[in-house]
Amino acid sequence: MHEFSVMGQIVDSILEEAKKRQATKVESVDLELGDYTMLGEEQLRFAFQVLTKDTIIANAALNVKHLKGRVKCACGYDGNVSVGDDTLHKIAPILECPKCKGAAEIVEGRECIVRNIRMVVPDV
Ligand SMILES: [Zn+2]
Repeated sequence: MHEFSVMGQIVDSILEEAKKRQATKVESVDLELGDYTMLGEEQLRFAFQVLTKDTIIANAALNVKHLKGRVKCACGYDGNVSVGDDTLHKIAPILECPKCKGAAEIVEGRECIVRNIRMVVPDV
């Protein structure tokens, strides 16, 4: 599953950040997920749970915020295209322009980034 490799990188970066600050526990992670990342939220949550087991991130809350995507098309259309579940599971999805039915280019919506990490840092 693609979600596991993406979440693996995210978990690694959180652990690195936590280590830098000598955190003892991670309480919550805020994740921003673009509409066109082609990653399923449920699968990401599952991967998070599995990958953080036995780490200081275990039991941390994962808050997922969805970001709307934006596409541009040769016909001049510039805006959002809603994607169905079946589109999300294609490897290289083509988004259809709602105006001319042509292939639209994705401008925004491929983000999958950690916006904020709340962790417990002991007083030094
Ligand atoms: Zn178009």
